[in-house]
Amino acid sequence: MKAAMMIAPHADDAAAFCGATLAKLSAQGWHVILVRVTDDQKDSIGYSVEETIKINTQEMHDAAKILGIQEIIELGFMTDSLADVPLGSLRERFVYLFRKHKPYAVFTFDPFGLYEGNQDHTRVALAVEEAFWVACFDKHYPEHFVEGFEPFSVCERWYFARQLPEINHYEDVTETMDKKIMALCAHREMMKNTINQTRLQLKTYGKRMAMLDEAIDGDMSQLLGMVMQNDGKAMAEKAGWEAGRFAEAFRKSRFGDMEELFEMMAEDL
Ligand SMILES: [Zn+2]
Repeated sequence: MKAAMMIAPHADDAAAFCGATLAKLSAQGWHVILVRVTDDQKDSIGYSVEETIKINTQEMHDAAKILGIQEIIELGFMTDSLADVPLGSLRERFVYLFRKHKPYAVFTFDPFGLYEGNQDHTRVALAVEEAFWVACFDKHYPEHFVEGFEPFSVCERWYFARQLPEINHYEDVTETMDKKIMALCAHREMMKNTINQTRLQLKTYGKRMAMLDEAIDGDMSQLLGMVMQNDGKAMAEKAGWEAGRFAEAFRKSRFGDMEELFEMMAEDL
């Protein structure tokens, strides 16, 4: 059984950026692991820090169930503060997790992604990128080997972003789009806060929109469903597929220039 590890700075990143693909892999029998790097302690409206951590964690577990994520690993860094954490200490955590859980595929933010304004996303992307090769070295973090782990290399890297520098893989997620939307709706507090940011901006502009108020106060599935379906549809169109299908886009990396040679000459272990 192959394992996929999603490394998410925040609880809602999995559903928002690659939730339908994770749900698809889980349905195909993959073991799907979610690593949440921060505690999301500030992402709510009106609750205390303690209440926020509790609510967001519970909602993450609800969303994970919907997506078929079987395992959740918490790293517990304070949210929206990863810019102040040394990159090397973040990297060590990811090297440790790679050596321990041996994921076949890792999903995370593209370190070369465009228009990213969230430092938690950027820092995790950079640290994971280095962890990919550092995990292979036998002289990096020898304390891991004392625990019985070995040098290890992830096989596939699935990058997502607000805007990817290059898309080379469209995953057909037509069958699991509904799970992505349901999972995103499960992150109710975080989504409320996301929608509220737009509402505040609109307020400064001197306008309001009933749809935003209704989503914050009640059912947000209509609004989030519309946004996610539009995005999935746009990606499917980019991929050149027939109407009615949904896609999630990735920059997927495996052996690069060596792929052809390996396909031709590599033998089974
Ligand atoms: Zn995030």
